[in-house]
Amino acid sequence: MAKLGNPQETIAVLQKYGFHFQKKFGQNFLIDPRVLEKIIRAAGVTKEDFVLEIGPGIGTMTQYLAEAAREVTAVEIDRNLIPILEETLGEYDNVNVICDDILKVDIAALAREKNGGKPIKVVANLPYYITTPIIMGLFERQVPLDNITVMVQKEVADRMQAGPGSKDYGALSLTVQYYAEAYIAAFVPPNCFIPRPGVGSAVIRLTRHKEPPVDCRDTALLFRLIRASFNQRRKTLVNSLHNSPELSFSKEEIQGAVLALGLSPSVRGEALSLAQFAALADILSAGR
Ligand code: SAM
Repeated sequence: MAKLGNPQETIAVLQKYGFHFQKKFGQNFLIDPRVLEKIIRAAGVTKEDFVLEIGPGIGTMTQYLAEAAREVTAVEIDRNLIPILEETLGEYDNVNVICDDILKVDIAALAREKNGGKPIKVVANLPYYITTPIIMGLFERQVPLDNITVMVQKEVADRMQAGPGSKDYGALSLTVQYYAEAYIAAFVPPNCFIPRPGVGSAVIRLTRHKEPPVDCRDTALLFRLIRASFNQRRKTLVNSLHNSPELSFSKEEIQGAVLALGLSPSVRGEALSLAQFAALADILSAGR
């Protein structure tokens, strides 16, 4: 089987199998070898690694991963792609394809079975309609992770990497940065895919922190505060937290905590760093 990753081979495979793209599955296949190599390099895949690939499509990136990694498991939801993958990956004895919805797969169990519970790498050209649930699921379900290196919509990558004061900074930035260090490895234009997506894309690497970068006694409260602060972006932090149905602090309690942090009572959530949100959570929970 010829190496995929260029327009000619990709079109030949799609025609051979009479494959029809399904928009609902976010199918945009990569056709640029330089981008594929960049992804593998950014993920730092070596022959020691077990890699989980989400959404292999016709197996283009899977071929690159199979050559770089010790073992690859690829989870694909579209059963029409399975016969294609059998052919395109037929030569590799270190690849296993599972036909399932990634959101239903027990990835922690997979990491135990395939990698003895040691941190795994996740590499994917993600289906954009479920980027956030996939990434949050990996972090929140305690999957042992080394890094997640994924193609996402450019604006989502910008939000994940943004810091306080930037227009892109929000709940996604803070939540991702609580779990991982974000690094944008490449910007990728629409002409690197078939069919071309309507948006620009970026490869982002999220390297899991060994320890969270901030101490916080009640992380559930921390995440509730973060969500509430950005739900009403134009309101002050005090009003956003007071109005949130997820929280039950009085206005006086919130104002007191904000002042105790040395912040103005009219400060907005977008001005606070992760460390300041963690300190706010500690002050508020200590008052209860
Ligand atoms: N990796 C291929 C490439 O780079 O050419 C395909 C990437 S395409 C953007 C996303 C892939 O994810 C498609 O093959 C799609 O069918 C698959 N997919 C969509 N939703 C999925 C889900 N919930 N679980 C697993 N795979 C999914």
